[in-house]
Formats: sequence, C-alpha cells, structure tokens
Amino acid sequence: MKAEQLVREYLIHIGEDPDRPGLRDTPKRIVRSWDELYKGYTQNPEDVFVTFDENNVQGGLVYLKNIEFASMCEHHMLPFTGVAHIGYIPFGRVIGISKLARLLDIYAQRLQIQERIAEQITDALMEYLQPKGAACIIEAVHQCMKCRGVRKQNAVMGYSSLKGAFLIDHKARQEFIQLVKS
Ligand code: ZN
Repeated sequence: MKAEQLVREYLIHIGEDPDRPGLRDTPKRIVRSWDELYKGYTQNPEDVFVTFDENNVQGGLVYLKNIEFASMCEHHMLPFTGVAHIGYIPFGRVIGISKLARLLDIYAQRLQIQERIAEQITDALMEYLQPKGAACIIEAVHQCMKCRGVRKQNAVMGYSSLKGAFLIDHKARQEFIQLVKS
C-alpha cells in the first residue's frame, strides 16, 4: 500500500532501519491510526442534523460545554487537544444534544486549525438548524508548541466564533460565556 511505503521511506530519512523488529509493523500501524484520526473526511456534517420542530422553544439558550476533542494541526500534523463549548438560540427547531458533540468530532477529525473548527460548527448550525444565533468557543493546547518551536508547555489557545444574535446582542454573548465558564 502506497501510504505505508511513504512512512517506510520517512523512517529511512531519519536514519532508522524500517526492518528492525520494533519498526517492522510501524508503517501499517501509523496508517491505521491516521485513518482513524482523519475519519472526519468520510463523514458528512449534514447527516448529524436530525432536527425537531418545537415551536415554543424560542429565544432560550441551548448549550453543551466542556466537550473534549482531539484534532491535528494542518501546519505540522501534530495533535491539538482541548474542549469546545457550543451553544445556539433556537428558533422553533432543536437538535439532539449529543449531535453537537458529533458535529465537533466530524470537523476535528481532519487536518485543521482551531479557528476553522469553531467557524465550521457555527456555520453548520446556522445553515441546517437556522437558529437565531450560534456560538462556539474552543480552548486547546497545541503539541506543535509544546514539543517543538517555542516549547511552551502551559499556553492555552482560545477562539470564539459568534454568529447571528450572539454577534449583535452583547447580553446573549455574555450569557453564553457566563454559562460555559461557570
Ligand atoms: Zn502546528
């Protein structure tokens, strides 16, 4: 298989012997684990949106916080891990709450940057659920900063994506931040 061959070539590039016992199955294992880490490419976010019409659910704030995730940075193909907080203000339509976590994984299990995951989540919510607003805050630690480069062990990166009501109504924005931070 071609991908395994490439990993084998890389082992030679760093001065390793790909035929020594400890490494013999490594290319196969790496390709298998990468296929798992990148399985988001085979999944369609639209499939998550099994929604329910609830006409009297309007103007409240639905949120799911501290959803852990692991993703791979597209610049270094090293992991970044952390938590996401996702919320929306329904407009007569809701989605099963576990689906928010599924949506996160579909986008996280690709080559990513943290900002894009958050934007893709709020974009998908706005498009398929049509709420009054959607918000996603992501906090993560990047291995490419810990193990190499500037080597900062405790730096946490944050990003918040806000759409619709969260963008124009600062009370909605504050409420969301307060709820996910408490
Ligand atoms: Zn990186």
